[in-house]
Amino acid sequence: MSDSVRSQTADVIVLGAGIVGVSAAYAARQRGLSVVVVDRREPGSETSYGNAGIISSGSITPLNNPSLWNALPKYLTNRHAALRWDPAWAIRNADWVVRFLANAAPSRLRPRATALHGLIGASLKLHREWIVRADAGQRIRETGWLKAWRSDTVGAAKGEQAFLAEYGIASQLLDRQAISALEPNILPVYKVGLLHTQTASVGSPGAVVKAYARMFAGAGGEIRQSDIRAIEPDGEGWRVVLADGGMSARHVVVALGPWSPDLLRPLGYRVPLAFERGYHREFKPNPARSLQRPIHDAEGSFLMTPMEQGIRVTSGVELTGRDAPSSFAQLDQVIPLARGVVEFGETVGEPWRGARPTLPDSLPMIGPAPRHSGLWLAFGNQHIGFTTGPATGAAIAAMIGGATPPFDVGPFSPSRYL
Ligand SMILES: Cc1cc2nc3c(=O)[nH]c(=O)nc-3n(C[C@H](O)[C@H](O)[C@H](O)COP(=O)(O)OP(=O)(O)OC[C@H]3O[C@@H](n4cnc5c(N)ncnc54)[C@H](O)[C@@H]3O)c2cc1C
Repeated sequence: MSDSVRSQTADVIVLGAGIVGVSAAYAARQRGLSVVVVDRREPGSETSYGNAGIISSGSITPLNNPSLWNALPKYLTNRHAALRWDPAWAIRNADWVVRFLANAAPSRLRPRATALHGLIGASLKLHREWIVRADAGQRIRETGWLKAWRSDTVGAAKGEQAFLAEYGIASQLLDRQAISALEPNILPVYKVGLLHTQTASVGSPGAVVKAYARMFAGAGGEIRQSDIRAIEPDGEGWRVVLADGGMSARHVVVALGPWSPDLLRPLGYRVPLAFERGYHREFKPNPARSLQRPIHDAEGSFLMTPMEQGIRVTSGVELTGRDAPSSFAQLDQVIPLARGVVEFGETVGEPWRGARPTLPDSLPMIGPAPRHSGLWLAFGNQHIGFTTGPATGAAIAAMIGGATPPFDVGPFSPSRYL
């Protein structure tokens, strides 16, 4: 786009065109505001591209829940597929680690589950509306999500089912035969399953974000591709400094996912964000052995999702610096296990790495920056940002417009950390 047709001002500039930024931009545009979304890449090219594509009704229990304490001894060896950690990083970020572990206390579970339940419920509703409106309805699968155990841990599955039921989230307990009936092409390695029946998934999360971005542009929004260098207070509003110029707006929304703290630091905000990095590798599916839904191997610590370009195997968590070199150890550990569940062919493309942006309480920041008017924060959506992006964005747009957000945003207030 040439400079002459680019807007120099807008009501709202959204920084970042992942699922969160695109959602905030579209929701703000729906409120009649002029909106520009800026990203150095095409929409949906980073974390929102490489995830497992699950739009999860049941992910109300953060990773730092009371069971983490029991699991810690096995993670300390740094050989488990579920969690690897860099000791030097842990020492440098001891404050985050201590706060993250403190949030695993039993008393901290229900308030956070309740908060996430509100955010997720509102988001599922928006995803189901928007995906149809964005002409991408064929990309959503309403086949649920299967969590499966190799050992006879029916107690764990029943406990999870009962907890979900308290929040009105439906699931079905399955035995080996029921799992085979549901997924006839997998080998009978699982003894127990829990099917999250109200969960959906998509075959290409990046394509869904791009479809939402097209819907935003179709509604009169502007998408600008540029590197964002700084955000600076400018009179009543903000100036955004870009690699190829600048723009001004009354409101700026920071939706830069794992990169969000970088541009906030010069404004005096030290955001305690850590990076739960994860990897994926994709494989040619065997058409005679297709999967119907994502499968979470609870003890193998990996996920398998049927994607448009192949079967995507995603890894557990690697706690280290956002930009530290890749280590494919966790993927290498789980791929033989995945091959033992369903037959698939050679790899497709290169392995991918992303960073789940996570605050110590595993709740995103959704709301105004405490010390600057017109600056809005929308990031930290941890393992469930693809699910929760739409309502995160809609809440920010509502707050900008002085309206009531679609869920209780109190627990997500940035002022709890800033
Ligand atoms: C392995 C893995 C599996 C996952 N599986 C799921 C799942 O199944 N379901 C689910 O709900 N969630 C899942 N997640 C989490 C989810 O992917 C993230 O929470 C979500 O994508 C975060 O979205 P975002 O918009 O905040 O960030 P991003 O998608 O990363 O968007 C941030 C954008 O900011 C841009 N940007 C950054 N800095 C600059 C700059 N200086 N200038 C210009 N642009 C900039 C980037 O280019 C990027 O496009 C998974 C994550 C991982 C890593």
